[in-house]
Amino acid sequence: MWKWQKQLAPAVNAAFQQVDRTQFIPEALAQYAKLDEPLPIGEGQTISQPYVVAIMVEALNLKPGHKVLEIGTGSGYETAILCEVTAQPDQPKGATVYSIERIADLASQAENRLHQLGYFPNLKIGDGAQGWPEAAPFDAIIVSAAGPKLSEHWWQQLAENGRLIAPIADRKDEQFLWLITKQDGEAEWNNMGEVRFVPLLSSLFDTVH
Ligand code: SAH
Repeated sequence: MWKWQKQLAPAVNAAFQQVDRTQFIPEALAQYAKLDEPLPIGEGQTISQPYVVAIMVEALNLKPGHKVLEIGTGSGYETAILCEVTAQPDQPKGATVYSIERIADLASQAENRLHQLGYFPNLKIGDGAQGWPEAAPFDAIIVSAAGPKLSEHWWQQLAENGRLIAPIADRKDEQFLWLITKQDGEAEWNNMGEVRFVPLLSSLFDTVH
């Protein structure tokens, strides 16, 4: 169904075939669901562009059973993709997926639709910049909103050999997607190109008070 600019790993492709994006957007926008573009989901937020979700998920190199933390549940679309790629036989889909959303209404709508579709990730309402210390360490962390820097908490909650992908905005709000890997406790940064995400709002970054 999706035609990407580059070929993706079979597991990532399969996840995108499984998850119907129409289920995650307002009914009035159903006709646009299959466009490779971000779309409004209410509360001034957007469902991410599928291709951007695809390259982020692919960069994390997720395997069944990997524990992954997502910041910014939004519609739950990317959450469902994460549930698919980490699914293990005989386990509910989403058992190793953790996702945090700061807007309670979006979080509860996402929860309802994920449950209806048979996904049971661990969901929490709160400031994702704090991470989810009780569930750490994570094999992977995926951030879906752009902050001015990397949260120290994410870095601490990332497992050895773990992968973290996050858009980071500079003062002019130019955003780049960074893939950060942890090897022997050291960070290696890879710039994956320019992107456009909604802001990550957190008292940690003084972007919300
Ligand atoms: N992956 C989502 C993207 C949603 S947009 C999807 O495909 O639908 C990013 C989301 O991040 C928004 O819902 C926004 O409310 C949320 N967000 C912004 N700052 C946050 C924070 N500090 N903690 C948790 N969520 C945050």
